[in-house]
Amino acid sequence: MEPRYLVDAMLGNVARKLRMLGYDTEYTADGASLEGAASSGRILVTKNSALLRRAARLHVTTITGDAEHTIMRRLLRGHMPTVSGERARCAICNGATEEVPLREALDRAPPGIMHTKFWGCVSCGHLYWEGTHMDRLREAARDWI
Ligand SMILES: [Zn+2]
Repeated sequence: MEPRYLVDAMLGNVARKLRMLGYDTEYTADGASLEGAASSGRILVTKNSALLRRAARLHVTTITGDAEHTIMRRLLRGHMPTVSGERARCAICNGATEEVPLREALDRAPPGIMHTKFWGCVSCGHLYWEGTHMDRLREAARDWI
């Protein structure tokens, strides 16, 4: 089974990247839902030492690090992730995405978007396409592994 994550709200960039890589990733502010993570097997990602201590007491697996790239490196543990629109979850709400028919997507996309493949979030409706975001993520992932 794919790992699922509970990410400290202080690490918003990490959470967005994990979602774009397709990992089910929820936010926590001040450790809310940490007990839920213990029972559902989510991995806590945080730099907060008080939160790390609480997680240890609850036997929640944790990943921590001083810098974003250190954390991403520990999360991926040497595995090059698949970066694709098909796999990505919504960076905004963690919803699953599905392909949107081209005609409908072009109606919804900002003017000037020339892509031919689009995905929409099934929860919030946000529209995604392969573009600079995905390219940058792919490039960054090479540095993390
Ligand atoms: Zn969404």
